[in-house]
Amino acid sequence: MLRGDGRLRRRWRARRRRRRRVRPRRRLYRAADEPEPLSRATEPLFEAVRLGPQQAARNTTHGFDWDDLHGSDPGSGEYLAHRARFKRSRVPRIAETVADTGFLAPPRGTTEHNNAVYVCPECERSEVNWIAGMEVCLDCDVPMRER
Ligand SMILES: [Zn+2]
Repeated sequence: MLRGDGRLRRRWRARRRRRRRVRPRRRLYRAADEPEPLSRATEPLFEAVRLGPQQAARNTTHGFDWDDLHGSDPGSGEYLAHRARFKRSRVPRIAETVADTGFLAPPRGTTEHNNAVYVCPECERSEVNWIAGMEVCLDCDVPMRER
């Protein structure tokens, strides 16, 4: 920034003011004192915003489970606050991975471990995921072949 450049200084100050206004929102879940954080976390809207990123992260190094998303104490407001922080830190990397690889793993359908008919051509295991009329390896997400 050049000294005396008022326009840049005003823009920088405006950006600082916007950042200050956003911070209290980040504490929203913690401050809400939700009496039933677990019930809130399982509502359809919360489930919908969990399932998208969780599906995109499936079988990548960014995969996560319910407890990773929420933390261990379902009785505190921190339960929902952890969810917001976790998603803010993970979702960008998940989106980058999907965009870079150009691959989105199929959803988990009906599954069977140690299936007697199908074997994975990649990992040689028999962990079948039946989804959309196909037999897909549960671990590698590739079509399986019959033994
Ligand atoms: Zn496999």
